[in-house]
Amino acid sequence: MIKVNNIDNFFKNQCKFIMGAAKYSQIKSSYLPEIAFIGRSNVGKSSLINALVNQKIALTSKTPGRTKQLNFFELGEKLILVDMPGYGFAKAGKNEVNSWDKLSYEYFAKRPNLKRIFILIDSRRGLLEKDKNMMNIFDSLAASYQIILTKIDELKEPQINAVKSKLEADSVNFPALHPKILLTSSNKSTGIKELRKEIINL
Ligand code: GDP
Repeated sequence: MIKVNNIDNFFKNQCKFIMGAAKYSQIKSSYLPEIAFIGRSNVGKSSLINALVNQKIALTSKTPGRTKQLNFFELGEKLILVDMPGYGFAKAGKNEVNSWDKLSYEYFAKRPNLKRIFILIDSRRGLLEKDKNMMNIFDSLAASYQIILTKIDELKEPQINAVKSKLEADSVNFPALHPKILLTSSNKSTGIKELRKEIINL
């Protein structure tokens, strides 16, 4: 557990880009706890990371040349956030897809300070095949992972509850999945405080 006096203030610390890695061997070891964010492209990952730290850091990950690598950010010298490449790019060539998968797989399998993977799911779409494939990989590695539903401002309350119930029912197939589903909207700043709390309590 990270010791902080005020959770929201902690997330106001400067969040600086520390490294980008296109190969596992480029990742420097660290003693700091690390959390990773992954999801299909367009799921709202950059918006969520930016809302989490009140800074436009995820823009860094979108600069050409950095979209296919793991981008590492250090927050307040206490925590590392990793912005993972979005999966499910229709345009990516087969070899490219393989190299991202290989990098991500190696990272999940080997990184000793990785505390949790947050997998982002668009609340309007629910779990798609690619998400399930990813989750099967996490299960096979016994990695601790948790679902963040994004863009809940697009849905009405009963629809949100329906998506959540469906996911909870599906979760029996994913043994290493954390049971708590986080509901967020970066547009409306919904669920950001809860996400911060979840991270600090890890
Ligand atoms: P990324 O590709 O996963 O990094 O996704 P982005 O953060 O770039 O967002 C993709 C699209 O979804 C953009 O058009 C955003 O404006 C939109 N978006 C992101 N977050 C939200 C949200 O909380 N609510 C809604 N309605 N749209 C969002």
